Amino acid sequence: MGEGILVVICDGLGDRPVRALKGASPLEAATRPNMNHFAGKGACGIMDIISPGVRPGSDTAHLAILGFDPYKVYTGRGPFEAMGVGMEVRPGDVAFRCNFSSVNENMEIVDRRAGRIRERTGELARALDDWEFEGVKVFFKEGTEHRGVLLLRAEGLSPLVSDPDPHEEGVRPHECVPKAPEAALTARVVNAFVKRSYEILRDHPVNRDRIKAGQKPANIILPRGAGIMPHLPSIKERFGMSSAALAGVALVKGICRVAGMELLEVKGATGGLDTDMGAKMEAALEALEGHDMVLVNIKAADLAGHDGDFRMKANVVKRIDKALGVLRKGLPRDVHLALTADHSTPCCAKDHTGDPVPLAIFGPNVRPDNVRSFGERSCAQGGLGRLRGMDLLPVLLDLAGRTEKFGA
Ligand code: ZN
Ligand code: ZN
Repeated sequence: MGEGILVVICDGLGDRPVRALKGASPLEAATRPNMNHFAGKGACGIMDIISPGVRPGSDTAHLAILGFDPYKVYTGRGPFEAMGVGMEVRPGDVAFRCNFSSVNENMEIVDRRAGRIRERTGELARALDDWEFEGVKVFFKEGTEHRGVLLLRAEGLSPLVSDPDPHEEGVRPHECVPKAPEAALTARVVNAFVKRSYEILRDHPVNRDRIKAGQKPANIILPRGAGIMPHLPSIKERFGMSSAALAGVALVKGICRVAGMELLEVKGATGGLDTDMGAKMEAALEALEGHDMVLVNIKAADLAGHDGDFRMKANVVKRIDKALGVLRKGLPRDVHLALTADHSTPCCAKDHTGDPVPLAIFGPNVRPDNVRSFGERSCAQGGLGRLRGMDLLPVLLDLAGRTEKFGA
């Protein structure tokens, strides 16, 4: 029997020097005795999640950390967008990103974003959700603001269809055309869905209210960017490990689910800034009793980074560190812990960047190096050097004695 693996991903933790922090990053500026403990007793490095300079999304980043090549499995954003809004996505499902849009009585698009609608899209979406056409199950869910996701489920669907969204205003929606013979059914369903969306949304109470209030009606759905959910071999199939994930955000949950991980819910884990991180760590320790590998995602640092709020981000680091005290006390001796991030979200950029992230691996079989603190600069001096996200699992599996020899 091999040993356990715990991966703690502090979403968006990596950052750049902040002048107001005397050139330190929010991570480096924060009090973090527990992070420093794991880095000091462990082996450190930095990680290019996808490859140097590539700005990862949280979806492609988690795919890479779970050992998938995102360039091979991430063929279209649709299915991952669907996960992001909390839809269940199965292999073979075809999904589209969509806009709530406005058309006039001549079916010409007057606003691709329906007056940047923000409210009550859930009511509109429910009127379109859960339909069936030619044996294809059709699901629709609202996203943020004017966005939504269309998901089709049946045998033999194909993402090789053109976009009904013409990507410009003043014209009619395009017909969805199959780019290959096997995509004919998919195209028919998409065309029927777009037509039906107009028939149902045109006189929907939400739109009557919008028109009364002088706002543009969200009276049609325009799909684009079709993608098919590939079958991803599970962690069990690839490595023979049982695995579980603790994550608050729908997108990360979705990735973990398609990787075959069991999703565990934690009371108080919201995925927001107020999330109960200590409870998550307690739950991770508990999950390690029944699973070989556990992944924990803590979202808060990414949110602070997107807000450009370096003080808040440093404060988030302090809170994460306090929660890591739970692991410092209770981590079983035969478990290897990886403490890292899925990408950098520097406060100066307010978005994800390609900067490598710090990594510390702690556990019985690591070769400690001379790094004594957990930070972007200190970890760059460590014995793990510079890895790619896809390298993380092999390194952990090797430490845990779970790999097969390559060669004789
Ligand atoms: Zn992320
Ligand atoms: Zn982010």
